[in-house]
Amino acid sequence: MRCTHWRRVPLALAQETRQKAPDGCLDRTLQCQLSAHEGDEHYGLLAELATHDTALWLRWRADYVNLVVLRDCPFTGSEPDSQGCSLFAGHPEHHTWQDNPEEVPCAS
Ligand SMILES: [Zn+2]
Ligand SMILES: [Zn+2]
Repeated sequence: MRCTHWRRVPLALAQETRQKAPDGCLDRTLQCQLSAHEGDEHYGLLAELATHDTALWLRWRADYVNLVVLRDCPFTGSEPDSQGCSLFAGHPEHHTWQDNPEEVPCAS
């Protein structure tokens, strides 16, 4: 089960993201990327950075929000064709591939 918390990206942080990752398309509202978790700190992926293996994340709690640059989670799973984990190194709870037993098919 994915965490169901959403957060609007504050304008100032959206602008900062554009400066750091000008090529990315920016979601103005992010869902927490973690599996359902304890605690009130949530993480939404803003953009992959050009710097190898890092990404820009929005981190928020009820009363604060900021940008953090985090290394990608190094785990890639056991399947040969696994896409690996799309979270950051040291994240709590499950890796993303452990959490999606039933992939939602792409509507083509
Ligand atoms: Zn969350
Ligand atoms: Zn992971």
